[in-house]
Amino acid sequence: MPSLSKTTPASDGLPECDAGVLERTAPLYEKVRDVVPEAEWPLHAPLVDAINRLKIERNAVILAHNYMTPEIFNCVGDITGDSLRLAQVAAEAEQDVIVQAGVHFMAETAKILSPDKTVLIPDLEAGCSLAASITGEDVRRIRAAYPSYPIVTYVNTSAEVKAESDICCTSSNAVQVVEAVARQWGTDTVIMIPDEYLAKNVASQTGVRILTWKGDCEVHEKFTRAEIEQLRIEHPDAMIITHPECPPEVLRAADFAGSTGAMSSFVAEHRPAKAILITECSMSDNVAVANPGTQFIRPCNLCPHMKRITLRNIYEALRDLRFEIDVPAGVAQRARVSLQAMLDLPGGCKPPAFDTSRPETRADYVSV
Ligand code: SF4
Repeated sequence: MPSLSKTTPASDGLPECDAGVLERTAPLYEKVRDVVPEAEWPLHAPLVDAINRLKIERNAVILAHNYMTPEIFNCVGDITGDSLRLAQVAAEAEQDVIVQAGVHFMAETAKILSPDKTVLIPDLEAGCSLAASITGEDVRRIRAAYPSYPIVTYVNTSAEVKAESDICCTSSNAVQVVEAVARQWGTDTVIMIPDEYLAKNVASQTGVRILTWKGDCEVHEKFTRAEIEQLRIEHPDAMIITHPECPPEVLRAADFAGSTGAMSSFVAEHRPAKAILITECSMSDNVAVANPGTQFIRPCNLCPHMKRITLRNIYEALRDLRFEIDVPAGVAQRARVSLQAMLDLPGGCKPPAFDTSRPETRADYVSV
């Protein structure tokens, strides 16, 4: 059990560390000891302890995305995973309060699917470059220009954008959604917004023609093919696993590509001796906790929005019941239709992979 010697005195009414806190949280520290330095634990432990107590008092559940830091993901998260799993579980949660340890659009999604619950986000500024790339007005202009094509919208968007769309998708089910909606509409062309790289990567997996938007994830767009090739030279024995928000040439240079859920499943199933996850930094830490036999090389990029969520502001959110997410009823009702259309599609038990050997397929941009 970590000692108290390096504990910083608590301030601002935050809980303090003492021997009882360290004893109660010792089993949680055992889970994360390979990815959280022992010297840091006395800083985390009082907040972890207080959050887990407050969750019971508030009848709250914490949804923690894969990109949360390991002490959040593993020590206070009740439901963990990618955005599809969090969206599905948010709809079924029995608790009165949902705390979204993730970014703003995820909290909006939880509120849309659970309108009678109190949904809190620990930091209102936790945004997303993809969500910021497009507005509801943009989607209305796309609809006016292309009235006969269905609009598939990535869940990484605002409620207003979802409300203007026909169906949502995540990186787990994007190919399935595009193909299903093309069949339903009897069309060979689907509009997929706002992530241009996800759209291009989906286009290479299907015969459906895709028109897209020039939005990007500021974390995944930074990875390059040259970087992957250099990693391959330095670590020829490692499995290179990418996320489909990366540029297509990055996927082509990798061994596997899929959503964060598919990445986790791939490592758990194949148990590679060494793996490189081409995605946000905390993902490797969290997959490492569940897969101690795999060595992770970490050429990651931090998401500044995800990293706004901390144990401290989760604690404050629960303590003060702040910051509550509200979605106007009319917007929520229409966004729920798009989300429900996605959730109603039959899903497999394992998130599908992108075939990285397929040639790149052109996806043009909408013209509005
Ligand atoms: S990792 Fe990318 S897509 Fe996810 S919240 Fe950050 S900017 Fe948005």
